[in-house]
Amino acid sequence: MSDRLLLFGGTFDPIHHGHLIAATTAAERVGASRIVLIPSGRPPHKPASGITAGEHRVAMCRAAVQGDERFNVCDFEVESPGASYTILTVRHYRKVHPPTRELLWLIGLDALRDLGSWREAAALVDLCTIVTAARPGYAAPDWDTLRPVFREEQLARLAANIVETPQVEIDATALRRRAAQGQSLRYFVPQAVEQYVREHRLYQTAAGE
Ligand code: ATP
Repeated sequence: MSDRLLLFGGTFDPIHHGHLIAATTAAERVGASRIVLIPSGRPPHKPASGITAGEHRVAMCRAAVQGDERFNVCDFEVESPGASYTILTVRHYRKVHPPTRELLWLIGLDALRDLGSWREAAALVDLCTIVTAARPGYAAPDWDTLRPVFREEQLARLAANIVETPQVEIDATALRRRAAQGQSLRYFVPQAVEQYVREHRLYQTAAGE
């Protein structure tokens, strides 16, 4: 078993098969044997209102991956006060894991384009390996826009860790809308997540779009 841990943060409101396929295929590509899903507490880039309570999003992640030993679900961000910044979460992981454990953080190509605006972005890139999931045939980011923030060696590492993952056209916003319209989430999300949404009557209105 490799000692590479792939951390995957997101709102996960709700978690869906697009997230899970991206995470598992990216983990295979980079040789990570474990994946940790980290639902964000208060994402700095999204309005706090309209996001489903953290406990539900954590519970849906747990339901989604139950019985799959590759996965863990972490409630660190949901339980932490204040805004969720990736650098704080990765520092926490660095502190509680042995130095031999390599930490990787999975993002999408859109996030890579914005990475320069993340809190302590250059420190983050030094502290963990940023892995970018990109659809096959993706257009590479404009590296010049990232040059003011990152050193050439950091840019080279970012570029070397872009991995191709299948593009699954599912997005959480559309799923919340489906649920609000009384349409089933079956086949878009794991069955246990669909059941959880139904039982807890989540997404009855399309608020938070
Ligand atoms: P919303 O519609 O609520 O903004 P989202 O699914 O786009 O939801 P997050 O839940 O925050 O957003 O997603 C977490 C991460 O998963 C992000 O990095 C996002 O780029 C990625 N992601 C979202 N949907 C897919 C998908 N269908 N395939 C691959 N990656 C995805």
